[in-house]
Amino acid sequence: MLRHQSKPLVRVDAELKKIVREMFDLMYEANGVGLAANQVDLPMRLFIVNAMGKPDEGEEYVFINPVVSKPKGTDEKEEGCLSLPGFYGEVTRPARIHVSAYNLEGEELEADLEGLLARVVQHETDHLDGVLFIDRLSTTASMDMEPPLSQMQNQYEERVRHGDAPDEDAVAERLAEWENNYC
Ligand code: ZN
Repeated sequence: MLRHQSKPLVRVDAELKKIVREMFDLMYEANGVGLAANQVDLPMRLFIVNAMGKPDEGEEYVFINPVVSKPKGTDEKEEGCLSLPGFYGEVTRPARIHVSAYNLEGEELEADLEGLLARVVQHETDHLDGVLFIDRLSTTASMDMEPPLSQMQNQYEERVRHGDAPDEDAVAERLAEWENNYC
């Protein structure tokens, strides 16, 4: 799922709004500041952000079909990812960006972002294209991560073999169903 190219979302209904609420709960539980739909096995272009990472602080944003443009400057900072627990690395990204998207009410959202928000929006938009922050590390840093990552992959395959995680066919079937309904 983390390598899945997510499809534009064309429909918002009560069920999707409920799922987005659950995504916020999950993100706060994991002390995250952003979460993309494919991190919770959903194939549509949607992610959520709260730069404060707490339910009673900061502002909750839902980005649907986001488009990032006008990158300016560069900034290097450590990133992690809720889908890759225990992995951290320095990632260089544009320091400032423009983003346009829709919210759950179908309203257009346009913003010039910098700092943490710019970074989170880029990290989450990457997710929707199947790109992970580990793909953007320096060669040395990514070589260091290779052994623990293969180990994680092996553990996952082991779980699939034992029926503790759905196999590829089951995942594909579920994806097709979501895409039929929402994309
Ligand atoms: Zn992530």
